[in-house]
Amino acid sequence: MIEHFSSCKSPQQIMGLLAKTYYARAQGIDPSKIIMVSIMPCTSKKCELTRTEEMFASGYQDVDYALTTRELARMIKQTGKDFVNLPESEPDHILGDYTGAGVIFGSTGGVMEAALRSAYYFITGNNLAQLECEDIRGLAGVKKMSLRIGNAPVRVAVAHGLGNVTAVLDQVREAKAKGKPAPYDFIEVMACPGGCVGGGGQPYGVTNEIRALRAQGLYADDRSKKIRYAHENPFVKKLYEEFLQKPLSSISHELLRTHYVPRGDV
Ligand code: SF4
Repeated sequence: MIEHFSSCKSPQQIMGLLAKTYYARAQGIDPSKIIMVSIMPCTSKKCELTRTEEMFASGYQDVDYALTTRELARMIKQTGKDFVNLPESEPDHILGDYTGAGVIFGSTGGVMEAALRSAYYFITGNNLAQLECEDIRGLAGVKKMSLRIGNAPVRVAVAHGLGNVTAVLDQVREAKAKGKPAPYDFIEVMACPGGCVGGGGQPYGVTNEIRALRAQGLYADDRSKKIRYAHENPFVKKLYEEFLQKPLSSISHELLRTHYVPRGDV
């Protein structure tokens, strides 16, 4: 199935390369002096840092260190700080702000929902009337939804937890073996049950109840954001105007894309 994978890099890698190119240039900082540390729900992010030469797109290692949320929590506790009662503050700009579409990436179905919000706009010129895709939220192992985008019916599936991913891919293989079209146009896959809210780097002791509460937190954050579509994020728009030119431009291809290879029996 590798040829069908999205070639878009992960948020970790995109943020790293932008920090050492666009951000460095805008702030007048020598990129060799930037140490990029990401805080992730995922132990696999450590492995991703040097996965291919594409992870050095800035000319440096794009992300220097990946810490899990569990490691960060331990470090904060070691400082003795009362983290819960720290004063709120605004993120640094130019790359600090995020939209509702960005925050829901952490839950199963969230990447699909965020992508549909923007795909619908780019194809039809209008924003989706029904912003929240309830059919693909929640902890059911495989979720499905159909919608029309312009004149085209679009069928999507969302699977999380590797057993459920296998079940969806088997449906695609079966259709192919019978010479039928694939049952879905777009499939979201997350390895961890619940998505990144239940990621391997998150605090221990996760249950479905905790996964659901964490997802509710993300959806509440989405609802509280003034901007809930990625394509309306003024900082992303500025990034394209000043640096990446436009989606699918040659520089965005060069910097934002990756590829995968079979790993055999590792
Ligand atoms: S779903 Fe799991 S493996 Fe995939 S990025 Fe999230 S935490 Fe990592």
